[in-house]
Amino acid sequence: MPECIVCRGEYTRGTQCPRCSSDNTAWEDWKKKEEKRGRLQGFFHFLELHSYVPAIIAYCALPFGLLGMSGPWLPVRLSVLVPVVTLTFILCLYITQYTYAERFALREEELLGRVKRGWRKRLAPEFRAAMVPVAAIALVMIFALLLVESEYVWKFAELLMRETPSRAASAVEMPAQEETADDAASSPQEERPSLRERLGRALPLISLATYALIFVAFAYSSSLTLARDYARQLNEKVPLPIFLREDLLTGVVQREAGRAVHRAVRSGGGSGAAAAVGAQSASRSWTWDEMERLEDGGIRLTAVVHGTKKEETLSGELVERSVSTAYVVEADPWGRIIKVARAER
Ligand SMILES: [Zn+2]
Repeated sequence: MPECIVCRGEYTRGTQCPRCSSDNTAWEDWKKKEEKRGRLQGFFHFLELHSYVPAIIAYCALPFGLLGMSGPWLPVRLSVLVPVVTLTFILCLYITQYTYAERFALREEELLGRVKRGWRKRLAPEFRAAMVPVAAIALVMIFALLLVESEYVWKFAELLMRETPSRAASAVEMPAQEETADDAASSPQEERPSLRERLGRALPLISLATYALIFVAFAYSSSLTLARDYARQLNEKVPLPIFLREDLLTGVVQREAGRAVHRAVRSGGGSGAAAAVGAQSASRSWTWDEMERLEDGGIRLTAVVHGTKKEETLSGELVERSVSTAYVVEADPWGRIIKVARAER
C-alpha cells in the first residue's frame, strides 16, 4: 500500500488518506512522472537542478588526484596515494548517488528542522551544507599544525612518506646505535628538522589531505544544496507534512490517543461489560487543555477525562463518584503515539 506524503499512514491509491484525510493525487502524479523517466534519466534530471555541480566535483576528483600523484605528492608513499585518491573519487560519486536515493528523506529532514529545537535543529541539512566545508578546512589546518608541532604526529607522517636519501642513510646507521645504547629514547637528539624544513617536507602530505577533505566536503555540500532545490520544487506541488500543520497533527494525535486509552482500558482495567462501558464513556468526555511542541518536532498533549466510578459504602450500598483522570500524550512528528501516561487529579 502506498504511504501518505503528509502523515506516513497507509492509504488506497485514488482515495483520501484514512488517517489525516489528505489528498495524495499530486504526490502520486509526481511519483508517476519519476517512474516514467527511469532511474538513470531521473538521476540526470535531478543533477540538472544544480547545473550538475556535484557530478562535476566527483568527476574532477580523479584527474586532480592523478595530477597530484604525478608531481606534487611524489614524496608520499604510493601505498598511501593510491587508496586516498581512489577512495576520494569513490566517496564523491557515492555521496551524489546517495543524495539522489535519499532525496525524499532529506526533504522531510529539512522540513523537520523548522519545528525542531535545541541541538537537533543544528543538524538540519541547511546547516550541514554550510558547515561541512568549513569543518574540512579547519581539519586541514589542525592537521598541518599538528604535523609541525607534535612529535608523535610527525613520526606517524614520516611513515607515510617515501625514504629520502638522508633518512635512508640514518636508517642504515640505526642498528649500530641500538646495540650500543639500550635506551633509545634517552640517546642524543637525532637531527631534528627545523620548523621550516619540517613544513617543507610535510607539504605534500598536507596538500594530499586538503585534496581529499575538500573534494569530499564540497561534493557533500553541493549534493545537499541540490537535494534542497529538489525539495523546494516538490513542496510547491505536494502538501506539507503533518508536523508543519499543527491543527491536523493535534487532531490525529487526539483521535489515536483516545483509541489507545480505550484499548488499554479494555485489555487491562476492570472486567467484562462494566470496563467496556467505562471506557466508552471515558472516550466521549475527553477535554484537551494543553499542547506543547517537543524538541524533536513531536507533540505533547494533556487531556482530562471526566468519568464516574462505582464505590461500595460501609453499609454495602453502591454509589457513583465522579473521577477525573489526567492523561499526558506524547507523539512523534508524524503523529504516532509514543507515550500515554496517566495521573489522578
Ligand atoms: Zn495521511
